[in-house]
Amino acid sequence: MTKPIIALVTDCDDTVAGDTTTKFLSHRGIDTAKFWGTEVKELLARGWDPSLAYLKRLIANVGKGKPLGEVTNQVLRDFGASLEDSLYPGVATLRADLQSIAAEIYPEITVEFYVISGGMKLVVENIPSLKATCNAVYGCEFEQDPTTGLICDLMRCVTFTEKTRYIFEINKGISPNNMNPYAVNTDQPENERRVPFKNMIYVGDGLTDIPSFSLVKARGGVSFGVFNPGQEASAQRALVEFLSTDRVASMHSPKYGKTDDLGALIRAAVTRMAKRIKAERTGVTDTGAVRLTPAD
Ligand SMILES: [Mg+2]
Repeated sequence: MTKPIIALVTDCDDTVAGDTTTKFLSHRGIDTAKFWGTEVKELLARGWDPSLAYLKRLIANVGKGKPLGEVTNQVLRDFGASLEDSLYPGVATLRADLQSIAAEIYPEITVEFYVISGGMKLVVENIPSLKATCNAVYGCEFEQDPTTGLICDLMRCVTFTEKTRYIFEINKGISPNNMNPYAVNTDQPENERRVPFKNMIYVGDGLTDIPSFSLVKARGGVSFGVFNPGQEASAQRALVEFLSTDRVASMHSPKYGKTDDLGALIRAAVTRMAKRIKAERTGVTDTGAVRLTPAD
């Protein structure tokens, strides 16, 4: 029998932290309105994929004398390390809180935390509290020029449907360090998968999270959406794209403390999952009733 694991899987930008890519661009002195509103928009109008479009423009601005200057992978790591204050309330202690809630119900349970971002992996994974509490961060990655050391090419691009690839990798227990991109396609019976979908909670905010919301929810997990009540466009999107289409259980402000509505609901979801896992493993339900046939 596999070890019981509950996984919290989240997007990064505007979900657990402010927009890390825009922060990086403005930190390096780029006019972000022009970058997103003109440079990237032009590529989108020509049919570019949104993730590839922003990454292409970002790389094009790297170099001596260019707007972003000399950017190496180490520059990205160092910038990520400076972003602790960008995390939303309650994120830093969330995994530890969820772990103690689950362990109190059934000590064998491990709670894992994954971030899947369309932003830059080296920035996101070096935010101190994410580095300390995430099992893995997935995001876009760059190749460095062997001579100059500057980022010069795209190694990995995480788009909206690509996010579901990493959810399946978590589901099937494929190591984030695995170098075979096709490993995720290996057939694996549902009951042998390391993290069943019914033990997953997905949290995201944007259009790029829609396939992930749908995948996790359709397979028995729980999806929550976050939005910014201070922005009309964000509230409109929450209503039209997420709530009206039933893609998420509910929408909330990105606050993860015990007494915040989203934080409380994530804790309630973990509690419920932990009680179900305990009943499946021991045959004893929460109320002390004994099931005649444990599920597995
Ligand atoms: Mg986002």
